[in-house]
Amino acid sequence: MLRAIHPPELRQQLALLHGPVGFVPTMGALHAGHRALLARARRECAVVVASIFVNPTQFGPHEDLERYPRPLEADLAACAAEGVDLVYTPTLEDVYPPGFATRVRVEGPLSAGLCGAWRPGHFEGVATVVARLFGQVRPDRAYFGQKDFQQLAVVTRMVEDLQLPLTVVPCPTVREPDGLALSSRNRYLSDTERATALELHRTLTDLQRAWQAGMPSLGTALERERERLKRLELTLQYLEVVQAATLQPADAWGPDQVALVAAVVGATRLIDNVRLSADGPEERP
Ligand code: AMP
Repeated sequence: MLRAIHPPELRQQLALLHGPVGFVPTMGALHAGHRALLARARRECAVVVASIFVNPTQFGPHEDLERYPRPLEADLAACAAEGVDLVYTPTLEDVYPPGFATRVRVEGPLSAGLCGAWRPGHFEGVATVVARLFGQVRPDRAYFGQKDFQQLAVVTRMVEDLQLPLTVVPCPTVREPDGLALSSRNRYLSDTERATALELHRTLTDLQRAWQAGMPSLGTALERERERLKRLELTLQYLEVVQAATLQPADAWGPDQVALVAAVVGATRLIDNVRLSADGPEERP
């Protein structure tokens, strides 16, 4: 039976296991999106470690830290079903012991725009906790979902800049059959809100089609979609098309672009994105 472990047992257990370590950091409330990451790690690595830690430093003061779901038993069962070897469930003190004084900040457009503009300090919280977890688990490969496209870009940059000895493995977004991206926050949505949330995916696939047809122009397509979303029962934070490598906003359709959206539906903040390039790893209309 898989159980939650804490330091120093983490290092003791890891010392007993041999071969490349695959690591999937999560905040729990695991769904099929997380499970796809765990399954891929299982296929590719001798040892698979998942972590479950709801990291307070990546939440803003008025965000959903308190009500974030924490179904530990169900999460342990999901990890067991995916063949995870160790589930690391650190306490706040394990991650941020007294005296902890380091912050990791990836600067520039990778973290400044999009969610970075709406959630000040968020990516600093993410980079810091991920660096700390990497230091504790010492993985060879770490698996991140493209659902959180900007997070993936920030973590990839951090690993490269600090020359951390591991490979970041991007994994495609897992969706419901109707296109809704799986998220631990979807459980907050009422039926009506869920139907509204689906419009975000529709907007992204509309942009994908416009990208493929080359018309209307990027500016016109974005304006049209923003107007459409603003008429719905949601608060649009951003809808942008950016260059995948730099996250700089694009001013015309071109290769290697991603469309990203963030909106608050009811009391729930949702994000989604699709890769527009034809050779992108996922989601073609
Ligand atoms: P979270 O628990 O939200 O911090 O997510 C943990 C990891 O799971 C991150 O790398 C996310 O990008 C990834 N993830 C979350 N939702 C999905 C999804 N629908 N498809 C693929 N990966 C996901």
